[in-house]
Amino acid sequence: MNKRRGTLIILSGPSGSGKGTVLKNFFENYGDKNVKLSVSATTREPREGEIDGVNYFFISKTSFEKMIDEDKFLEWASFCDNFYGTPLSFVDENLENGCDVILEIEVQGALKVMEKRNDAVSVFILPPSAAELEKRLIGRQTESMDVIEKRITQAKWEISNLEKYTYFVVNDTVEDAAKKFKAIIDAERLKTDKQKDFEF
Ligand code: ADP
Ligand code: 5GP
Repeated sequence: MNKRRGTLIILSGPSGSGKGTVLKNFFENYGDKNVKLSVSATTREPREGEIDGVNYFFISKTSFEKMIDEDKFLEWASFCDNFYGTPLSFVDENLENGCDVILEIEVQGALKVMEKRNDAVSVFILPPSAAELEKRLIGRQTESMDVIEKRITQAKWEISNLEKYTYFVVNDTVEDAAKKFKAIIDAERLKTDKQKDFEF
């Protein structure tokens, strides 16, 4: 009997759409040992309170380029002047062990993963309006106005790719969005080909 392989779940959405907040609520309320969040590597500076190895692996551009050369990324992308990448070994080890793995990544990287892994499930998240997106991004107080403007410009291109995703969740309230994200994971787990270890 084949062991169940985990599902690769991509979560994208413009900066400020609430990916981090919704995931935090999801893990607090619905997390279990069979769902893991991939920790990315990035060349961006840590924000106040971010912890190396927890939020990101904060690395230099030279170390990032070395990882690219050594094929250590499932995907990587340049986003608003910084590099971001998904370490490959964590993803594959956990999928092999039957765990679902969530990638919280921007759209360029997500499109690469969709190409490489056609069984990946993808979720796009958006706030209820463009004005609300801007309000949340400014309200977070983690970026300067010029960085916020770059992220909003990038958001327009990102949203134009929404239809390439399997699921679309509006992040109106965090609780409701996290519940919908949980429903997606539950539905994926109930797929027949994901229940290989069932015996009757
Ligand atoms: P992302 O990870 O997509 O960049 P964040 O999770 O950091 O976005 O959220 C951006 C800002 O919006 C944060 O200040 C967060 O507290 C706030 N936020 C997230 N979701 C909601 C929501 N449903 N309603 C109101 N504010 C929200
Ligand atoms: P932030 O700087 O706000 O943490 O992240 C900026 C953007 O980079 C977000 O859209 C986030 O989802 C994305 N991101 C984080 N990690 C990765 C990654 O490993 N690969 C890619 N392609 N994007 C990532």
